[in-house]
Amino acid sequence: MKYQGSCHCGRIRYEVEGELKSAMACNCSMCVRKGSLLWFVPREQFRLLTPEADAATYTFNKHVIKHHFCPTCGIHTFGEARNPKGEPMAAINIRALEGLDVDAVPVTQYDGKSK
Ligand SMILES: [Zn+2]
Repeated sequence: MKYQGSCHCGRIRYEVEGELKSAMACNCSMCVRKGSLLWFVPREQFRLLTPEADAATYTFNKHVIKHHFCPTCGIHTFGEARNPKGEPMAAINIRALEGLDVDAVPVTQYDGKSK
């Protein structure tokens, strides 16, 4: 299945291909503030449709995860990191996916170590 995602103003748009079975509620100091629900997919299943330079990037702690957000409307749309095997992954904020019934997606809790 293919999902379309975007920030609020539309400056950032993307597509994600895959089976959305569950999302993760991360409790790190950043995710609790923004309330995002994350869906991790291999980076190649994610396609950014707008220029990469239009997305602002924030990093903290060990600076291994790139948190991308829209500098115009402030919505956090996705992040990029590597899994323990070193493979590139995308972390999709499913709240930014269009037409998705977020409440129907099972949510798992994650006790993040990065405070
Ligand atoms: Zn925006």
